[in-house]
Amino acid sequence: MTTQAAQADRNRRVTRLVEGTPTSDGAGVRLTRYIGDAQLDRLDPFLLLDKMHSDQAGDYIAGFPEHPHRGFETVSYMLAGRMRHADSKGHEGVVEPGGVQWMTAGRGILHSEMPEQQDGLLWGYQLWINLPASEKMTEPRYQEYSPEEVAVEQRNDGIEVRVIAGRTQSGAVGPVNAVSTEPVYMDVSMPAGTVFEEALADTHNAFVHSVEGRLVIDGGSPGVVTEIPSGGLAVLSPGERVVIHGQAAANRFLLIAGRPLNEPVARMGPFVMNSRAQIFQAYRDFESGRF
Ligand code: MN
Repeated sequence: MTTQAAQADRNRRVTRLVEGTPTSDGAGVRLTRYIGDAQLDRLDPFLLLDKMHSDQAGDYIAGFPEHPHRGFETVSYMLAGRMRHADSKGHEGVVEPGGVQWMTAGRGILHSEMPEQQDGLLWGYQLWINLPASEKMTEPRYQEYSPEEVAVEQRNDGIEVRVIAGRTQSGAVGPVNAVSTEPVYMDVSMPAGTVFEEALADTHNAFVHSVEGRLVIDGGSPGVVTEIPSGGLAVLSPGERVVIHGQAAANRFLLIAGRPLNEPVARMGPFVMNSRAQIFQAYRDFESGRF
């Protein structure tokens, strides 16, 4: 085997395609769920991925009134429209289009999240990332970054990489810091006919969600090329790099990766712990006002 072929063999391939399931959550917000249901229960350390995408206010205006979280992190990233949030400790803010809120719920917060449209459109994502057992009861922490604080890397061929978390192979570093699962969260826009290549730690689980446009993941070996339809999600195999070809006139995707925790997961509603006893404790703490 030539060196080149050996290298190509380290390309990540598509192991699974997920279309997303229409559902609703909160006070009746219409969503597409990619991770966190029967179709794809989880992809360690990722517990949930929801997309809100609508130009109909009735689909989201009731929002997510006050609710608790314990034991994991929630990442809200808006493409269009805003997310106004407030919590029981007096913290509040607005996630702007292109901005991100990375919330470490830790031992518990009680908050509301209310979507607002911009020019008639709401488009945003919420990702849940698990915390290691040793950090599930940590102090809650917020990292909030405006669109200007997200790192932007412009590549020669018109490819733009917005780096929210992690580091590109050429050195752009996202603002999110000190997260144990060493997350990578990139929002990539690419013109038709261009090829995006990026190194990814082999230890990380990874997926690609096509925000817009038909993508082809180049698995390296002949015949190992798989298409992701616009709006679809592909789970990737282990490997050292990802190679993506943009097929539509405009292509945009999220490339997300994280170090798996390999710990037991006990999950009920807004609580994600390691055992059922810890889940019951979370409910007792919530009901007795200890959040
Ligand atoms: Mn929430």
